[in-house]
Amino acid sequence: MDLIINKITKLFGKQKALEQVSFSVSHGELLGFLGPNGAGKSTLMKIITGYLPADGGEVFLDDERISTDKTSFRKNIGYLPEHNPLYTDLYVKEFLEITAGFYHLKNKKQHVARMVELIGLGDEQHKKIGALSKGYRQRVGLAQALIHDPKVLILDEPTTGLDPNQLEDIRSLIRNISREKTVILSSHIMQEVEAVCNRVVIINKGKIVADGSISEVKSGKLRRNQTVIAAFDKPVEKEKLFSLGTVKSALFDGENWEIESDGNEDIRPQIFRFAVENNLTLLALSLKQQNLENIFHQLTRGSDA
Ligand code: ADP
Ligand code: MG
Repeated sequence: MDLIINKITKLFGKQKALEQVSFSVSHGELLGFLGPNGAGKSTLMKIITGYLPADGGEVFLDDERISTDKTSFRKNIGYLPEHNPLYTDLYVKEFLEITAGFYHLKNKKQHVARMVELIGLGDEQHKKIGALSKGYRQRVGLAQALIHDPKVLILDEPTTGLDPNQLEDIRSLIRNISREKTVILSSHIMQEVEAVCNRVVIINKGKIVADGSISEVKSGKLRRNQTVIAAFDKPVEKEKLFSLGTVKSALFDGENWEIESDGNEDIRPQIFRFAVENNLTLLALSLKQQNLENIFHQLTRGSDA
C-alpha cells in the first residue's frame, strides 16, 4: 500500500510543529524518518496513524483519506508509539489477545500464537510484561503493532534505549517484517537509519530537508551545499575561486582544494571552465562523499538538539 503525505501542517499554539510536510512511501519500502529531538517526527506519525488531526494537508493510504474520526483504515496500519506504552500488569499472551480483540479478529489465540512465533516471544509468552527486559518489551510492542497483519507499519523510535545485542535483534526483525510491508521507522540517530533503511527522509524543525536513497543523500545530490574536491597544476588565488559567485568557502590543504558551493547545484562544470579560462590543468575534480552523519549535522545545523 502506498502512503501519501501531502502538505501536512500542524500547530501547537503558535508553534509550527510541522510545516507543509510532503513525501510518499511506496509499497514495500523501508523508510527512515530521521531528525533531531523536537523535529516533529512523533507528531507526524500520530497524524499518519489517525490519532492526531492535522491543521492543514492530508494523508492518504492508497485512496482512503486518514482522519481522526474514522476507524476503517486502522486495519491497514500498525503503530508502535514512542516509549511503547504497555500494560505492565498484563501477561504477554493476555495483552496480545486483548489487542487482537480490539481489531475484532476471529481465532484470537491463533493470531497470538502466530505473533509469538514470528516475533520470537516463545520463552517469554507466559510472563508478565513488567518482568520483561526492554528488548522483549519492544518485541511485544512490535507484536501488538503487527497482530492484525497490517500493510503499513509505523514505528516511532523502535530501537531507542536498547543495548547492542537487543538492537541487532530488533533491527533484523524489522528488516524481515519489511519484506512484506511498507514500513516507516523514525529515529534521531543517523546510524540507525543507515543500518536498517534504504531510503531516508530528514526532517528539521518541522520541515523536510532531504529525501532520497541513503546513497543519494550521501553523494550530496540532495544537500543544500555541495563540496567539490579539485586540484590544479599551478597555485590558485582563493579570491579567484570566489569570483565564481556560487562558492561559499574554499580551503586548500597544500594539494587539494575543498570548494563548497552555495546552492545544491553541481559546480564541477564551473570549476572546469575556470581551469580552462585560467590556463590551469585540472589534476582532480570530484564531488566529496560525506558520511551520513556529517550530512545530517549539516542539514540540521542550528537546531537545539
Ligand atoms: P520528535 O518526535 O521529532 O522529537 P515531536 O513531534 O514530539 O518531535 O515534537 C515536535 C514539536 O512539537 C516539539 O517542539 C514539541 O515540543 C512540540 N509538541 C509536540 N506535541 C505537543 C503538544 N501536545 N503540545 C504542545 N507542543 C507539542
Ligand atoms: Mg518523538
